[in-house]
Amino acid sequence: MREIREDKGIEDLLNRSEALLTGHFILSSGLHSDKYVQCAKYLQYPEMAEVAGKKLARLFADVKINVVIGGAFGGIIIAYELARALHARGVFAERVDGVFQLRRGFEIRPGEKVLIAEDVITTGKSVKEVMDLVAGFGAEIIGAASLIDRNMAESESLGIRTEWLHSVQAHTYDPSDCPLCKEGNLPAVKPGSRGVSQK
Ligand code: ZN
Repeated sequence: MREIREDKGIEDLLNRSEALLTGHFILSSGLHSDKYVQCAKYLQYPEMAEVAGKKLARLFADVKINVVIGGAFGGIIIAYELARALHARGVFAERVDGVFQLRRGFEIRPGEKVLIAEDVITTGKSVKEVMDLVAGFGAEIIGAASLIDRNMAESESLGIRTEWLHSVQAHTYDPSDCPLCKEGNLPAVKPGSRGVSQK
């Protein structure tokens, strides 16, 4: 597990944009959870995305970065805002038959210093996939940056410098042994699906 970081300013923006929900949720894994993060709701506000980009850029101010790359779709906006703040190129990788590739004429050249950006790092699996892509171009991976770290017990060590602004720890439960279900007064919802009320 990575360390806990708290950025009250970012937390406030996450709440204001309703990107951070508290309640009783069914995750895509099928587990139930007391919190849900949808970074797209934060990043839909360009001024909030800009704040995150500037703060993350400060954490990498000691090194010249040529390219910031995000994995589609979650990493696209934060990579672009980081690139703006770092005066670098902002590109994104997209999956073709499940494997990240550079398309649309994007290039990463041998020896370029590359930063990988994500909206949220959960297990780190998709960052690792982008690392494999970048390494294949002979570029130098400087690190990975994300708005949020989920601080999951099963987080893999990425083996590279990793910076993030805010940790969001959720409790997750097997549906057969979920205390929120046992309370019974709070139906579980799948965020993002139709009919979920957005209070
Ligand atoms: Zn439950």
